[in-house]
Amino acid sequence: MSGWDGLPLRDDLRGLSPYGAPQLDVPFRLNTNENPYPPSPALVAALTAACAEAAATLNRYPDRDAIALREDLAAYLTVESAAAGQVLGVGQVWAANGSNEILQQLCQAFGGPGRMGLAFEPTYTMHGLIALATATGWVRGERDSEFRVDVPAAKAAIAEHAPSLVFLCSPNNPTGTALELDTIREIHDAAPGMVIVDEAYAEFRRAGVPSAVTLLPECPRLVVTRTMSKAFALAGARVGYLAAAPGVVEALQLVRLPYHLSALTQAAARVALAHSTELLASVEALRGQRDRLLTQLPALGCPVVPSDANFVLFRVPGDQRRVWESLLEQGVLVRDVGLAGWLRVTAGTPGEMDAFLSELGSLMKNTRIGAA
Ligand code: PMP
Repeated sequence: MSGWDGLPLRDDLRGLSPYGAPQLDVPFRLNTNENPYPPSPALVAALTAACAEAAATLNRYPDRDAIALREDLAAYLTVESAAAGQVLGVGQVWAANGSNEILQQLCQAFGGPGRMGLAFEPTYTMHGLIALATATGWVRGERDSEFRVDVPAAKAAIAEHAPSLVFLCSPNNPTGTALELDTIREIHDAAPGMVIVDEAYAEFRRAGVPSAVTLLPECPRLVVTRTMSKAFALAGARVGYLAAAPGVVEALQLVRLPYHLSALTQAAARVALAHSTELLASVEALRGQRDRLLTQLPALGCPVVPSDANFVLFRVPGDQRRVWESLLEQGVLVRDVGLAGWLRVTAGTPGEMDAFLSELGSLMKNTRIGAA
């Protein structure tokens, strides 16, 4: 029995469960790739002041084109891609409530009934779910044994299905693997439609790993999506954005709800961007803990996938669900992404990583798990 029994729900939604990782009140929450560092008291004060100012005008709708925020985001991306000499303007940037809403708007504008999306799994589950919710068809491409996108196989899938949208994810969730620019360029040139590179974790990439933003001048159907939820430690505010050709931004304005981004959200995001040096300081620390996981997990007997993100996919003996449950019993919540034999852990504070590594170490010594 479901609450929707008897309701005229779409047939393709019947029987599904809502997506979402468990939100449990445990000491070590390492399952949703959040940034563990809360805003500093100075930043909280600045956010409060900006929200108070915005609150005084809440009788009015917000700027529906979020121009000031988009200018700030364009300036941030311009600084970030300075090495490539790229200058982004407000017309190439669009913002919404989290990058999930950006992805939804992309599916609404470029997908829909009779159209296809293609992704290379395992990847971020929401890509397929947003396609489903927007009635966009879905084709599952595969990755090679090292979770890389194989370009000839990708081109063959594109030739076969002629997708309106190809979803790439770099660094990829849940594997942490980043794509080479040549791979993205080749896929863009082979694809008949839009190519989305989800760069939710871009700021955590290792030195020398380029962003797809640098490809925008040569790839007119490329869209790079970003978020303030991870590196900027602003998951609770819900701010995502994209960089693309101005025509893409114009297309999204056809499907976005008017005034989708509240005045409070726009104000908070602008304050966070004004404090980006302080906020992004945590990225260095988190990269350090990610690298610590990459060396210490194998030492415990858990092989890892090299990661350019703030999380690591690691192999466990036997049934990963049992390991997940045993860690949870000790107050450590990691992510079972549904990949047999693998779990994903978010890089957190040094203390969180001490707890995780020590609990996992004990489990690995425990013959029950180790022998499974
Ligand atoms: N893309 C990827 C790859 C993600 O992992 C996430 C969040 N887990 C998102 C997009 C969505 O993030 P948000 O909506 O908070 O911007």
